[in-house]
Amino acid sequence: MSSLQVQIEARGERIFDLVDRHPESIFSKAGFYQRMMALSMRDEHFKVQMFRFVDVLASLRRSGDIVQHLEEYFADMRDGFAPVIHTGVRLARIVPWLSSMVLRRNVSGMARQFIAGKNPDDVMKTLRKRRQQNIGFTVDLLGEAVVSETEADAYAARCLELLEHLARETRGWRNPLGINSELFPVVNLSVKISALYSQMNPADPADALAHLAPKLRPILRRARELSAFINFDMESYAHKNTTLDLFKTLCTEAEFNDWPHAGIVIQAYLRDAEADLRDLIEWGRARGTRFTVRLVKGAYWDYEKIKSRQNGWDCPVYLQKPESDVNFEALARVLLENESIVTAAFGSHNVRSIAHAQALAEELGIDRSRFEFQFLYGMAGPIKRALVEMGYRVREYCPVGELLPGMSYLVRRLLENTSNEGFLRAKFSEHVSAAQLLRDPSELVTCDGDKPAGIKNRHQRNGASRAAPPGDIFEDSPLVNFVYKESQEKMQAALRDVRSRFGRKFPLVINGEKIWTNKLTPSVNPSAPNEIVGYAAEAGIPEAERAVKAARAAFGKWSRTSFEERAQLLERAAAILDRRRYELSALEVFEVGKPWAEADGDIREAIDFCHFYAHQMRLISRPRLTQQVPGEESYQHYWPRGVALVIAPWNFPMAILCGMASAALVTGNTAIMKPSEQSLNIGAMLMEIFEEAGVPPGVLNFLNGRGSVIGAHLVDHKDVDLIAFTGSREVGLGIWESAGKTREGQRELKHVICEMGGKNAMIVDSDADLDEAIVDSIYSAFGYQGQKCSALSRLIVLEENYDRVMERLLNAAASLRVGNPEAPGIMVGPVIDEAAYRRILEYIDIGKSEATLAYQAKDLPPQGYFIPPTIFTGVKPDMRIAREEIFGPVLSVLKVRDLDEAIEVANGTDYALTGGFFSRSPANIERVKAQLEAGNVYINRSCTGAIVGRHPFGGFKMSGGGTKAGGADYLLQFLLPRVVTENIMRHGFAPEETPQYRDEFLWPSR
Ligand SMILES: Cc1cc2nc3c(=O)[nH]c(=O)nc-3n(C[C@H](O)[C@H](O)[C@H](O)COP(=O)(O)OP(=O)(O)OC[C@H]3O[C@@H](n4cnc5c(N)ncnc54)[C@H](O)[C@@H]3O)c2cc1C
Repeated sequence: MSSLQVQIEARGERIFDLVDRHPESIFSKAGFYQRMMALSMRDEHFKVQMFRFVDVLASLRRSGDIVQHLEEYFADMRDGFAPVIHTGVRLARIVPWLSSMVLRRNVSGMARQFIAGKNPDDVMKTLRKRRQQNIGFTVDLLGEAVVSETEADAYAARCLELLEHLARETRGWRNPLGINSELFPVVNLSVKISALYSQMNPADPADALAHLAPKLRPILRRARELSAFINFDMESYAHKNTTLDLFKTLCTEAEFNDWPHAGIVIQAYLRDAEADLRDLIEWGRARGTRFTVRLVKGAYWDYEKIKSRQNGWDCPVYLQKPESDVNFEALARVLLENESIVTAAFGSHNVRSIAHAQALAEELGIDRSRFEFQFLYGMAGPIKRALVEMGYRVREYCPVGELLPGMSYLVRRLLENTSNEGFLRAKFSEHVSAAQLLRDPSELVTCDGDKPAGIKNRHQRNGASRAAPPGDIFEDSPLVNFVYKESQEKMQAALRDVRSRFGRKFPLVINGEKIWTNKLTPSVNPSAPNEIVGYAAEAGIPEAERAVKAARAAFGKWSRTSFEERAQLLERAAAILDRRRYELSALEVFEVGKPWAEADGDIREAIDFCHFYAHQMRLISRPRLTQQVPGEESYQHYWPRGVALVIAPWNFPMAILCGMASAALVTGNTAIMKPSEQSLNIGAMLMEIFEEAGVPPGVLNFLNGRGSVIGAHLVDHKDVDLIAFTGSREVGLGIWESAGKTREGQRELKHVICEMGGKNAMIVDSDADLDEAIVDSIYSAFGYQGQKCSALSRLIVLEENYDRVMERLLNAAASLRVGNPEAPGIMVGPVIDEAAYRRILEYIDIGKSEATLAYQAKDLPPQGYFIPPTIFTGVKPDMRIAREEIFGPVLSVLKVRDLDEAIEVANGTDYALTGGFFSRSPANIERVKAQLEAGNVYINRSCTGAIVGRHPFGGFKMSGGGTKAGGADYLLQFLLPRVVTENIMRHGFAPEETPQYRDEFLWPSR
C-alpha cells in the first residue's frame, strides 16, 4: 500500500471517529424529512413523485390545490410502503386546510434544512451561530433561472445589497484560524453567472462577456473596497467556457489584476476539468496574482447526462462515480502542487476525498491554514465539526432566499442526499464501513462501464434474418454543439466562405443534364436585401414537360432497383450533407435568415430523414407473410406509385425538401424536386448532393420555377402520380382539389401528401413552472421569427396565473436578441421577404385594432425585413389575429377562466398542427394529452423542434392530411400495397411452415 494511501486511511478513520461522536441528524429516523428521505431511498417511483410534489408545492396558493396535487401524485401508491402518505391523503380529503398547512410547514422545514435564511437579516442568525463553531461562510443568493434582463438586473442589485449587508454585520469578525487570514476574507459571496444575463448563448461567448462584465464589475469593485471575496460558481456545461473566460478577462483588467480575492469553481466530473484547471493556473501565473479554485465534483450530473443523450452529444461528464472521485484527487494534486499561485478550496462531503486532500497537502509540505474545506449548509454537519476539531479551515456555503426560487436548489440537494452513488447516503444511511469508504477510487473504476458517449457505428447493422424484421438501427445524428470554440470557428469560417461565393448560378437538372434557360431567378439575403446570395435558372412549361418525361422514363428501372441500393443512395447523401454541414448551415443563415443553431437543426434533420427513411425502407420492403396458413402463402409488399412531384417551402429549406425527395426515391419513385423560390440555392445544393451520391439520370430532377406556372402545370399533369407538398393552406387546398380531377390518359389516381400551416396554442396552467413556461413560450413564438409551421401563436393563460405570467413574459420578450443572424446568438432574425414583411405588418395593424398591443420591440437593424417581436393581449378567440396564420413573430395572449375554457379555445381553430401545455398537475396533463386537437402535443416543453423518428411530425384538420413526416407510416404514402398469393399445396402436401419474410420480387435481369 502506498504511503499516501496509508495516510489517507489514517486521516479518514480519525474523521470517522470524530463523526461517530455526533451522528448526523438528517439521516436519523425521526421527523418528516427523515421519513421522506428514507422512503425515497427505498422506492424510486416514490422518490420521483415526491420530488415533483416538492417542486410544485411552493407555487400552490390554495389549500384545495395542495390537496388535489397530493392526491394526484400519491393516490396510486401501492399500500405497504408509504402509509404516511396514505394517511396524509385521507386526512387531506377531510380537512384540506389543516393538511395543507401541515404539509407546507413540513416542506418549508425541509427547505430550511438547506436554505440558510429567507433574507440577508435572517441569514445572519445562521452565520453568527457558525461563527461560534469556527465555521466561515460563503453566501449564495437563490434564484437561478432568470428569463429577462429585468430579473438579471434585480439579481445583480441584490448581490450588491447582500455584500453591503454582510460587510456591515460582520465588522470586527476575525478569521477563525488566525494565520494566513489574508488569503481568506471573512465575507465571501458566491455568484451564479447565468443569473446575471438572461440571453447567454453558448455560441456567442463574446456577447455574454459584453453583457456580464458591466454587471460584475461593480460587484467586484465593491467587494474589493469591502475586503470581501467573490466566487464565480460553476453551473451547467453550456456556460462553463463563458464563465472561465469571464473570470480571466475581468481579473486581468487593470482594476482587478492585483486583487487576490476572486475565485472560480472546477468540476471534477467533467472530462475537460484538468485542461481547464491547467489553463487557469497558467493564466494565473502570467497574471502574477493569487486566485482561488473551489474544487467540486459537480452538481448537474444527471442534467448533463440527459441533455447530451437528447442531443446526441459526447457526454461531458464521467459516467462512473469513481472516475469523478479519481479525477477529484488528480485535480487536488494539480491545485496543491501549484499552491504558490492558487489557493485551494475543497468542496466535498466525501471523507475519502477530504482525507486525500489533507494527506497530500501534508506530503507536499503545505500548511493546513493555507487551504480550506467547504461544505453545503445543512449537509454533513458532523464532518464539518470533525474538521474544525482537527484544526482545518472550514467554510459553509449558505443559500439565502425564499422557498419558490429555492426549489431547484432544494431538489438538487434532495437528489444528492438520496443518490445511490453518493457518499452521504452510503455513510449515514447505509452505514457502509470506513474501510470501504476509504478505498482508493481508482480500484473501483471498471473498464467496460464508461464507453465513449458518442455513439459509434451507427447505421451499420444492416443484417436481416428471415425470422426477424430486417433493418438497421436508427439513431438521430447529433446537433453541432456550439459550446466548443472549434464549432464556433468552423461556423464563422463557413459564413466567410459562403459569402465569398455569393452570386453563384445554378442550372436546372433534368435527366442528369445541366439545363440553362434565358431567365435566372435571384435569391436575396433577407437581412440585407441588396445582397444576392445566388441565382438559379428558371424553368418554364417546356422544361417542366422535359422533367416529367425524364422522370417517367427513369421510373421503369428505378422502380425495379433493389431497396437496398436505394437505401444506400440516401445514406451516401446523408454522409455528404454531414460533410458539408457548416457550409450548408451558413448558406441558410444568408438565404433564409436562420440563426446558427436553427440552421444546423435543419441540416441535421435532413441527414436524419435520409437515415430514417433508409431504415424504414429496409423494415417494410421485404414481402411479409399475411397469415400462417397451411397450403398457401400470401405475401404483402409494395410498389412505388410512379412520378412524384415534390414542392417544398423555404422555412426548413433543406430538411423538408430532402425529407420529401428522399422518401420518394427510397420507395422507388422518381421525382421532380421544386424548391421554394426563396431558397433555391439550398435546393440546388441538395441536387448537387444527390448527384454526388450517385442518383441515376432522370431519377431526381431539379426544377426551379414559379409555383403558379410550373407548379400548377405539374400538379395537373397526367403523368405525375404523386404530389408531396408542404406549404400554405391556400396552395395546399388548391393542390388537393386539382389532384382530385382525372385527366385524359392518366394511369393512377393521384395521391397527395399535404402538410399545411397551424395556429398553434399553448396553455399555461395555474401551477405551471413559470421559469420553463416563459422560456419555452418565448422560444416557440419567436424562434426563427415565428416562421415555423409549428410556432406558437396563441398563448392561453389561466386567469389565476395571468398577471405573474404576463409580467415575466413581456420582460422576457423585451430581452430577446433581434438582429442579423450572421452574428452568433441571435434569436430573432428577418422574415423571409418583402411580401411576408408587409403581410405581417398588416396583421400587426389588425391586431392593434382588435386587441391591445402589450409589447413591441423597438431597436431593429436599419435594413432588412425585420419585424419587431410583438405581443397582443386582450385577444378573443374570434378575432382575426387569433384565427389566421400570421407566420411571423406575433403572439396573441388569451386569458381564460379555467382549463375547460382553455381547451375549448385551443381547439377552436381550423388547424390542428402543434399544441402545448405547461402544468404540474398529473390529472390535468392526462386530460390535455387526451383532448388537445393537434398532430403533435407537447407537454412542459417548447412546441417546435420535432426530431425525426422521435416526434413524427404533421397535423390534421386544415393543417394536413394526417401524414407524419419522420414517422413509421410516412413511406406508405409513397407506395401502393400489393399481395401475391400462391397455392403451395401439391397433391395434398405442403410445407409445415412458411417463412415470415421472403426476398423482394425482383424482375429477372435481361
Ligand atoms: C461548498 C460547495 C460548493 C459547491 N459549488 C458547486 C458549484 O459551483 N458548481 C457545481 O457544479 N457543484 C458545486 N458543488 C458540488 C455539488 O453540489 C455536490 O455537492 C458535490 O458534487 C457532491 O460531491 P461529494 O464529493 O460531496 O460527494 P460524493 O458522494 O463523493 O460525490 C457525488 C458526486 O459524484 C458525481 N457523480 C455521481 N454519480 C456519478 C457517476 N455515475 N459518474 C460520474 N460522476 C458521478 C456527481 O458530481 C455527484 O454530485 C459544491 C459543493 C460544495 C460542498
